Amino acid sequence: MKIEKNSVVTFHYQMQDEHGEVLESTKEGDPAVFLHSNMNMIPSLELSMVSREPGETYSITLTPELAYGILRQNSDIRVPTKHVLTKGKLEPGMMVSIQTKEGARPVTLVKVGKFNVDIDTNHPLAGKTLTFDVEIVDVREATPEELSHGHAHGVGGHQH
Ligand code: ZN
Repeated sequence: MKIEKNSVVTFHYQMQDEHGEVLESTKEGDPAVFLHSNMNMIPSLELSMVSREPGETYSITLTPELAYGILRQNSDIRVPTKHVLTKGKLEPGMMVSIQTKEGARPVTLVKVGKFNVDIDTNHPLAGKTLTFDVEIVDVREATPEELSHGHAHGVGGHQH
């Protein structure tokens, strides 16, 4: 079947920045799985999949505005170190996960103190032009349970 609203899509992808550096890839592992049209992925990447079928491969380049946003200035804030969810030694420049009211969120550490850390609240991929090489592996209809949860279940998806 072709990809449409609420399809469960299984796909392989490789994401590169404008210098050709590979930032993420599923090629060596399990493909990614997601429920289309439920805000599980960058909207422009979702849009590029509409009407495609298993076996199709394509590339798409997204400007920062269409990917993770432009870099905002003066975006550093200070938060208590205990809000950092990433375990281990913290160092400036590291990407870490931080607890916010809206849930966990990826940020970049700017300064690390004993009780507080300064973080750059820009998404770590903000400001980057990203190219995605995509291979559609499988397309199926979502189950009623998946639709009510707003995400895909099973291998590569959510466990509940
Ligand atoms: Zn679920």
